[in-house]
Amino acid sequence: MGRQIVVAKFGGTSLADSSQFRKVIDIIRDNPDRRYIVVSAPGKRRLEDYKITDLLLACYEKAKAGEPFSFELDQVRTRFQDILTDLDMDFPLDHEIECLEESLLTNPMKGYTAGRGEYLTAKILAECLGFTFVDPSWCICFDENGHLNQAMTIRTIRASLLPLKHAVIAGFYGADMAGTIHTFERGGSDITGSLVACALGADLYENWTDVSGLYSADPRIVKDPEPVPYMTYRELRTLSYMGASVLHSDAVLAASEMEIPINIRNTNRPSDFGTMIMRHLPPDVLKNRVTGVSGRKGMSVMQIEKVMVSDGSGFSALMLDILKNRSLPFEYCLTGIDSITLVIRSDLLSDCRDDLLEEIRDTLNPDFIGLRENLSLIAVTGEKATEASDANVRVLAKLTEENIEISTINQGAGKLNLLIGVPEDRYEDAIRAIYELRQSMVTTGGTNTRSEES
Ligand code: ASP
Repeated sequence: MGRQIVVAKFGGTSLADSSQFRKVIDIIRDNPDRRYIVVSAPGKRRLEDYKITDLLLACYEKAKAGEPFSFELDQVRTRFQDILTDLDMDFPLDHEIECLEESLLTNPMKGYTAGRGEYLTAKILAECLGFTFVDPSWCICFDENGHLNQAMTIRTIRASLLPLKHAVIAGFYGADMAGTIHTFERGGSDITGSLVACALGADLYENWTDVSGLYSADPRIVKDPEPVPYMTYRELRTLSYMGASVLHSDAVLAASEMEIPINIRNTNRPSDFGTMIMRHLPPDVLKNRVTGVSGRKGMSVMQIEKVMVSDGSGFSALMLDILKNRSLPFEYCLTGIDSITLVIRSDLLSDCRDDLLEEIRDTLNPDFIGLRENLSLIAVTGEKATEASDANVRVLAKLTEENIEISTINQGAGKLNLLIGVPEDRYEDAIRAIYELRQSMVTTGGTNTRSEES
């Protein structure tokens, strides 16, 4: 087999100090296919530490307000200097910091300042490895409003990176046609990595972080939950939406469109397999039918009753129009013979609750309208889990056994998720109960549960 292309992205904790840099260098050298490396800026070394990006943003805010920023800038300089000293490197750090200082004093620019952490990290790592440094302002293309031009980005990355044997690319930022630097949202180096992987048609996109993959439940609620070795993009999207944050959701979207497998790996435990995310799982993998259980608190349930809402009079459509006109998103909507149930985030309702109820009363003249708050939403996620087994029945029975009230149930025909509303004060109990049940579920071959359908 010929050489593969592996794009490896290293997050902030993976590059937080010189010892982390060393681990990253070893990981890259360990596999010659890791040819295109994308980096974040150094993150926290310990809990009460600062991320370089936060320090840079503080410099920008102070500079913009005309206040001194040397305290924060000195911390940035010291963090990088410590790395350079420990790695015994000769690098023009003073010059780089002077350029940044000059720009902050004369014309502070948010995107430029915020991205300097990634810029310096990529330059330093490129030098350590003997790889070419690539400034993403050449190839990650934004418009003047800071929106990504994906088509142009893909073309430009291809043209600039493919001729290079090895490269280190700074994550998080890019530039518009006038050369102004823009950044993605926070955590956006994941998106850079994904775009590079897509543009190069990589065989694999490795995302190196500080955990050995995605867990099957939130470790703050369940003690030592199992990591999930394989999952589909759809499963990952659900689990991320419901709170499991390992990878930026836009990064998953880009990779899934191109079917580039993503492997979440742990820089501190490089021999761990991590989590492999793909569209079709290999037929021989063993997989629990329930991939994970996750959830969100802070939900409200709105119940609107009217005799025969489903009679074709457009009652449901009118209801959804009211939400659309207010740009108010909902988590899900269930319609019955005489009622519509909507699950909406409580924080989105806080400013408009009374007003919204009044509008619904005036427009739809319902027989009854009720709003229940302090609910949580739990997602039991697994490709075809509930089709091939009685998992859904067992989950509901388990919650009943634990005396946990079930306020709503939703399972679409895609059978990817079973969504259950439970009272907020029983959220943790419900997660633990379902996790316990999951452990007793049969592990199956990938073939039965494998396909993510389009
Ligand atoms: N350094 C940026 C942040 O802290 C981007 C990233 O790490 O992906 O958000």
